[in-house]
Amino acid sequence: MSEQPSKPPLRVGITGGIGSGKTTVCHIFEALGIPVYYADYWAKWLLENDPILQKKVFDLFGENAYINGKYNKALIAEIVFKTPQKRSELNAIAHPAVEQHSKEWHNQQRNVPYTLKEAALIIESGGQQWLDALIVVTAPEEIRINRIIKRDGITREAAIHRMASQLPESEKIKYANFLIHNDGQKLLLPQVWNIHQKLLR
Ligand code: ATP
Repeated sequence: MSEQPSKPPLRVGITGGIGSGKTTVCHIFEALGIPVYYADYWAKWLLENDPILQKKVFDLFGENAYINGKYNKALIAEIVFKTPQKRSELNAIAHPAVEQHSKEWHNQQRNVPYTLKEAALIIESGGQQWLDALIVVTAPEEIRINRIIKRDGITREAAIHRMASQLPESEKIKYANFLIHNDGQKLLLPQVWNIHQKLLR
């Protein structure tokens, strides 16, 4: 008797504002055996390893975009901080590269019910159209600000500035199939378990 091909895994996204606790939540899903694609990590990897993307970054930012093959994050962060147009152009080349790579990664996963793609800007980049479901992690703004001040050792102003480039939480939750409240009061584990059970069905 021929073996039944295993069902392809669902592709689930997980997003939320900066400091909402996306990564923390993903660590719980990983403990349940779910593979997680961390878009930030892979974006940095692609910027240093994908020659087509590198060429586009060179064209956009000039030869100082890389120093000895290393992505010149300090220079590019300074340019996009001052010039929002450049930020949009960088996003317009980086997001499709990450989307393509994450799709390939997803297609290589075997014998799992679903995979997760963790990214801060899924909705802002229109990425939810490629997903079967979207989880949004939420936390009150003041808590998020304090978490990033503590985690990254930055000022309150810098934390607020970082948040300003993202859609407000009230907009993000409109796109959510599942919500996780990470306000420091509600326990994360039962919320993750509940979603996991639904996704298994
Ligand atoms: P970013 O968008 O900046 O990557 P994130 O949404 O992935 O942030 P995390 O890095 O998971 O957020 O969390 C931000 C900080 O808050 C971390 O230092 C994390 O340990 C802490 N944190 C997250 N959730 C909780 C919680 N429920 N209780 C205490 N600390 C938490």
